[in-house]
Amino acid sequence: TSFGYKEVGEEEKSKLVGNVFSSVAPNYDLMNDLMSVGLHRLWKDRLVSKLAPFPGMKHLDVAGGTGDIAFRVLESINGVKRRALQDGLEDNSEDETRVFVCDINPAMLSVGKKHAIERGLGEAQSLVWVEGDAEALTFDDDSMDGYTIAFGIRNVTHIERALAEAYRVLKRGGRFLCLELSHVEVPVFKQIYDLYSFSIIPAIGEFVAGDRDSYQYLVESIRRFPSQEKFAQMIADARFQKVEYENLIGGVVAIHSGVKL
Ligand code: SAM
Repeated sequence: TSFGYKEVGEEEKSKLVGNVFSSVAPNYDLMNDLMSVGLHRLWKDRLVSKLAPFPGMKHLDVAGGTGDIAFRVLESINGVKRRALQDGLEDNSEDETRVFVCDINPAMLSVGKKHAIERGLGEAQSLVWVEGDAEALTFDDDSMDGYTIAFGIRNVTHIERALAEAYRVLKRGGRFLCLELSHVEVPVFKQIYDLYSFSIIPAIGEFVAGDRDSYQYLVESIRRFPSQEKFAQMIADARFQKVEYENLIGGVVAIHSGVKL
């Protein structure tokens, strides 16, 4: 291709993704903040506000290594509980809430567990860490109220299999939400964004993390990811209903959602 990136086979892709995330794990948070100028935090807030978590829910966050989504889900649930308490409502959901964080990479899970301890959630029984593959989840059919995947589905080898698994583990009425780097179509903005992603991101990767290749991979994986419309169609093909998406800053990021009915 024009950026010297080789086409890779499936097995190679899985291995490559494994290597990329083992090598980026230690610098992951810093790099996220630098590359998105802190915006990833707002995008994650938006994802969780769309999810509208509730006490007692069973939620699965896939590719959730850092815990960024899981912590927000728990915080949001605590907010709901606080408000209910202020309104004098009784709360017996304490032991019921479960937020499962599933990630294929133990190094990324370690990053998340470390953050959990820092946030005083090290012993929280509502938070469960699971090493596993989005394409072959170990959770029961119809067991989850919500499923999120943030900046993860792009790295999965067979997106269709991950979507089928999301559908399988959700209960009827359960919601699927996906936050992913997507495609900018606004002309001048697109050129600026391309310049930024193809030149600046690998350079930041090299100077900050000493790892240009992983960040080059990241940029290529964004470019290859299906368009907003195409991805929405894939979600519908996985039998989800009410499929829609919201573009954030012109499509740099999109949130796709669907319901299992
Ligand atoms: N969700 C987190 C966030 O938004 O900060 C982490 C996103 S990180 C860019 C992508 C994550 O996907 C990595 O932690 C990686 O290990 C994980 N991942 C890649 N392939 C996966 C798969 N097949 N199943 C589960 N997780 C996977």
